[in-house]
Amino acid sequence: MEKQRNEREKSRKPGTDRRYLQKKRMRSALLLLLAISAAGILAGAIAASQDGGQQEAGQPDAVETGARPAGQGSSGGSREDSKAKEEEEKKKAAAREKEKRDALLKEAGTLAAGYDYDGAVELIKSWEGYEGDAQMQEAISDYEAQKAECVPVNVEEITHIFYHTLVVDPELAFANQETDPQAVGNNQWMTTVDEFNKITQAMYEQGYVLVDLHDIAKETVDADGTPHFTPGEILLPPDKKAYVLSLDDLSYYHSYDGYGYASKLVLDEDGKPKCEYIQRDGTVAVGDYDVVPLMDRFLEEHPDAAYHKARGTIALTGYNGVLGYRTDISYQTVPDDIDADKKKWLEEHPDFDLETERANAKKVADALKAEGWRFASHTWGHLRVGSVSLERLQNDTVRWRENVEPIVGATDTIIFAHGEDLAGWEQNYEDGNEKYNYLRDQGFHWFCNVDSKQYGVQICDHYVRQSRRNLDGYRIYFNSIGEQDSLSDLFDAAKIIDPKRPPVHPL
Ligand SMILES: [Zn+2]
Repeated sequence: MEKQRNEREKSRKPGTDRRYLQKKRMRSALLLLLAISAAGILAGAIAASQDGGQQEAGQPDAVETGARPAGQGSSGGSREDSKAKEEEEKKKAAAREKEKRDALLKEAGTLAAGYDYDGAVELIKSWEGYEGDAQMQEAISDYEAQKAECVPVNVEEITHIFYHTLVVDPELAFANQETDPQAVGNNQWMTTVDEFNKITQAMYEQGYVLVDLHDIAKETVDADGTPHFTPGEILLPPDKKAYVLSLDDLSYYHSYDGYGYASKLVLDEDGKPKCEYIQRDGTVAVGDYDVVPLMDRFLEEHPDAAYHKARGTIALTGYNGVLGYRTDISYQTVPDDIDADKKKWLEEHPDFDLETERANAKKVADALKAEGWRFASHTWGHLRVGSVSLERLQNDTVRWRENVEPIVGATDTIIFAHGEDLAGWEQNYEDGNEKYNYLRDQGFHWFCNVDSKQYGVQICDHYVRQSRRNLDGYRIYFNSIGEQDSLSDLFDAAKIIDPKRPPVHPL
């Protein structure tokens, strides 16, 4: 039953969904504006009835003067006052109306900056009287002209970059390169906050625009739930280039502890995702210590760096929980063969409660989704899908379903752990690949591997596959010293490499 329901939910996702979501987003923006203005009007009315209390009370009194002691407000003065009051009210109402209109125009400007010209025009047209508003008319023709200049992106040439959790404190992460294998791994696979910021800025200056993975292809679904994919339509100004972003292993694994990484994602008082970071002295800081909040802030400042408010796709395992929360059932059942680091963590957290962890993780996941971030499976146990048995893949998928999906929601995307694919790039999954058949039946239709090539996109009838490039220490270092040339289309590695990064060991 549960499975059937999930299937149905998934079969409803596709194709129309993106547009539906955009409409929904726009509708929520409108509702928000309405709510803000309604609140404004209400607040105004309350304020008016309070500060105007005496006059208004005086008005009925003026009619029934006889019932009042003389001098309690002469009727003439009161009428003048109320006229002035009325004028005042009109002015206030006009000011509120203007505020509402300006907010709507501003939101339309943000949508248009993110290349959503149709959304911007639709929003303006929702304003009663937009036809007679010169500034609104000008904005509409401006957005229509900008849209007319856009050209379709060749979706088969869209590059896809990915990061792991960012290094906040390179001295902790990279110390002891000669003696600590994990420090070697940190140096090879991880990118620092400083490098991420420089890459994001450099790519922006090159005209790169973030698009959603699901923008690449359009999905339609048969009555029986079978999906069909065709190339998606992305319209950008001719000097812009599209790219896709994903984040792997955003679980803040126990093994990262003490190496200068953030420890979890949390929400700040405004409900925005931030990171918790345990500093060297043990105090806890909350701020932009990983890709999610850093990218959110960058896009807030540069709405033209993302297409239709796109964000990245977050690939999650489940064995250490998700997003820094210990949400896996094993933390509660504590099986005999539990990992030592889980055991240690449980000893250090005697008041651990699985349901609380899951509820807190879900709040963060919901906030991320509301911003446009999406989730993918990275398999529960970080499996090499090409090498494991079908049975192991099935058991692992059940674990992902039970432990991760309730928190982040159903997904149709798998980002392969270790980059290991179900089949070679030249092979078709549908040529009797039983693992693919199983994953397809589980609702997975989007697949991403890892490859050093600039881009790789396959839009097949029943599935979409894209290759991804690791922007990690290994690539950055070997590009920066001129031993590799696999990043120059994105940025100059020599200019972005963190001066605190030691030489990276060859693989
Ligand atoms: Zn991974």
